[in-house]
Amino acid sequence: MERCCEMAALAREDACELDANDPLRSFRDRFIIADDQQIYLDGNSLGRLPKTTRAKLIEVVDQWGSELVTGWSEWVDWPSRIGDLLGQKLLGASAGEVVITDTTTVNIYKLCAAVLESQKLSAGRAILTDRREFPTDRYVVEGLATQHNLELRLLDGDPVMGPTAAEIEELCEDGGVALIVLSHVHYRSGAILDMAEINQIARRHDATVVWDLSHSAGSVPVDLDGTQTELAVGCTYKYLNSGPGAPAFLYIAHERLARLASPIWGWFGQRDQFKFGDRYDPDPTVRRFFTGTPNVLGLSAVSEGVSIAVEAGAQAVRAKSIKLTALLVDLYEQQLEPLGFSLVSPTDPALRGSHIALQHESARQISQFLRERCGVVVDFREPNCIRFGVAALYTRFVDVWDGVERVRSAVQSGEFRDVETQSARVP
Ligand SMILES: *Cc1c(COP(=O)(O)O)cnc(C)c1O
Repeated sequence: MERCCEMAALAREDACELDANDPLRSFRDRFIIADDQQIYLDGNSLGRLPKTTRAKLIEVVDQWGSELVTGWSEWVDWPSRIGDLLGQKLLGASAGEVVITDTTTVNIYKLCAAVLESQKLSAGRAILTDRREFPTDRYVVEGLATQHNLELRLLDGDPVMGPTAAEIEELCEDGGVALIVLSHVHYRSGAILDMAEINQIARRHDATVVWDLSHSAGSVPVDLDGTQTELAVGCTYKYLNSGPGAPAFLYIAHERLARLASPIWGWFGQRDQFKFGDRYDPDPTVRRFFTGTPNVLGLSAVSEGVSIAVEAGAQAVRAKSIKLTALLVDLYEQQLEPLGFSLVSPTDPALRGSHIALQHESARQISQFLRERCGVVVDFREPNCIRFGVAALYTRFVDVWDGVERVRSAVQSGEFRDVETQSARVP
């Protein structure tokens, strides 16, 4: 994908024109925008609230009030029904391969533990992940390695581009890798890994990859069947706009299902659950990876969030997201690079997701100043990184333009130095 050179001297009016010609522009109206002056560039951490979700939550609360326990006859199917919509329309999965359940962390644990159990008798005794993977992914595999007395092999992938297929292959060639855990889109740099190629490498070495799609779902098209992915998880409260702590998703390819047992033998994973059988007898479908009672209010929010993303279409979302990050990078080069920022995301838009990361020695102070005094919400990541996320469903080109302008002004004037940095529990 070529960078647009005509954007070199892009003025605010040009950004407005990009908005006027944006096929997704009407989608912004579908979200609650509480403060129109605020520029929200953190949808990669927590997506906005869709108006229909607000209404749907009230409806489901009322349904709880009126139907009480009889509401379950409808609610009980939601994890599979919404999972199918997400899986088939946005992730390239087939029916019955995706469910909504638990948190991403718990789903990573369940799938990783299941893989390790299924490979128990094989030679594979190591878990491979990247040193810079998202913390929860690293901690879960660290815990599993400790509990099962396995080797944890850490890749030292490039901080911007992530690990290459060759590096992954090299660590597999030392033998004994049973499980590989990787993010499709890296949470910090936004780098996209080649799922098809890495899956092939894994297969050659009898290893299984568990993919974390938290930063892909709703922003970068994923083709689970086409890339021959066996297992994946991901989160719904980022680009799928399903709300804080909304339940996550889990994918198991049909071909892989038969050989996998959930490490948590819960009653929602039981075949004929309501027969209350004496012994655990796992459900024959992906539902055996359910644990306990699903969060119905959370599910109703996922249903709305996924429906809006499906309506917009994965390709249209990706096309706009690429233009938005390309604009961000162009404006960074003109306005922010001279002020001591450096880009720590891939320069080729085809190789990055829907956010970019900039480094600056005063990143913490700058991001705090932007939030508190400039109405620009970005996020700070230790030690010196600011992430700028764009969400094609509601971020306008003019938001990117205005956001960069406010950053430039705050940094050029040195005003950001006035801010008292506090170490808040959530940065
Ligand atoms: C956001 C995110 C998660 C979140 O996990 P939770 O269990 O929902 O807290 C996991 N992995 C990655 C890569 C993420 O970006």
